Amino acid sequence: MNRDWNRRRFRSKCLGRLMSCVGKNTKSQTPRFFQWHPNSGRPCFPYLPCLRPCLLSTVFLPGITMQSIEHLYFHIPFCPKLCPYCCFYVEEGSKNKNKAFLDALLSEVERAADSYTLRPKTLYFGGGTPTALLSGQLEYLLSGLRDRLILDDLQEWTMEANPATVRAEKAQLLSDIGINRISLGVQSWNESSLKTLGRVHTGTQALKTVEILQNAGFAALNIDLMFSVPGQTLQEWEQDLATTIALNPSHISAYCLTYEEDTDYFRKLTGGQFVQNEEHDARLFELTMDRLGEGGYRHYEISNHCRPGCESRHNQAYWEGKHFLGFGPSAFSTLPGVRLQNVCDTAQYTQRILAGGDAVSSREPLDDLLRLKERIAFGLRMDEGLEAQLLLPWAEATNEFERIGLLEKSGSRLRLTRRGRMLADSVAEAYV
Ligand code: SF4
Repeated sequence: MNRDWNRRRFRSKCLGRLMSCVGKNTKSQTPRFFQWHPNSGRPCFPYLPCLRPCLLSTVFLPGITMQSIEHLYFHIPFCPKLCPYCCFYVEEGSKNKNKAFLDALLSEVERAADSYTLRPKTLYFGGGTPTALLSGQLEYLLSGLRDRLILDDLQEWTMEANPATVRAEKAQLLSDIGINRISLGVQSWNESSLKTLGRVHTGTQALKTVEILQNAGFAALNIDLMFSVPGQTLQEWEQDLATTIALNPSHISAYCLTYEEDTDYFRKLTGGQFVQNEEHDARLFELTMDRLGEGGYRHYEISNHCRPGCESRHNQAYWEGKHFLGFGPSAFSTLPGVRLQNVCDTAQYTQRILAGGDAVSSREPLDDLLRLKERIAFGLRMDEGLEAQLLLPWAEATNEFERIGLLEKSGSRLRLTRRGRMLADSVAEAYV
């Protein structure tokens, strides 16, 4: 065990970000088996070896035919404008935002339904910005899915939204079709921070969008926030938290900005225009825990806080290592023994699916050890921790973390202490 870990402080790109975007995807090819996305906090699997096309037909193996898959992710890769810190596969503009793309998504679902029983408990539309689709396009896609999926067991249907892309009519349409949870990418209410982040919306616009969504009946509302924005002060972040709590959303995600390779932000960091300050980041993180806790939110995952009973079930499924299918360009699927990723190119994705093929571009074998490591990395991020026996192979490290107060026992489970949460990266790295 590296005893130098103690010098490593909480950071935004903590393993904390590892995996909530399963299904979400990055352009990055960093050889880590997973990482966290900077603004959604969803897990990404940036490194998958390429597959020869002739191997792609093995995606739906006869041996796992008709297994039931309960969690589906849809990647809608369009954004009104690309944010300078974003590392997802997204595209600006409307070139590929057409009926052919929607038909490809529906065809991909039909193809999967030939091999799996698609009886979802959770559906998640991420991107990109799903609400960048026009109302008519959303109606076509969501109605098409209703016709193709068995929705009797559906508990949660989430759609990510950008405040600049939701008007009252669209919000009502989404509610009428069955979306019951919205994840709104606010990031900040502060105009200066929003400008620095290159967001297309203003704080005032975001406040109006929350009102629109609440009027449309969305009781389950997540507000995405981001801290450690360049130039952001402690007071500004505290005000962001206070404004958010006053709106009483059921769920708040608060992520520390991450500088991902191949982004403008990363270039500015390496060029010296931006500077990371780990002490400042740690103070912002502590403030987040304190203020949201005082506001009645349960800190159930490093970056996620909710009213009792309002956890994100879809993300919980990722964190618990459940199997899921991802649809759309760049989407990941995790199936027994394998993780797959679709091609990161919308035009190619559409063309391949409509030509009757699949869109898989890479696959990663998932052996038991890798699954265990992922399970540990995710489990450590949860307030409930994980079964202590999972950590037995790393007894020496575990004992040391307990001794110095970063891990604590809770019945048969082990979980991070408050101080451990500040150093979640370092703790997780000892296991993965
Ligand atoms: S809105 Fe979200 S997905 Fe789109 S570019 Fe910005 S950070 Fe990326």
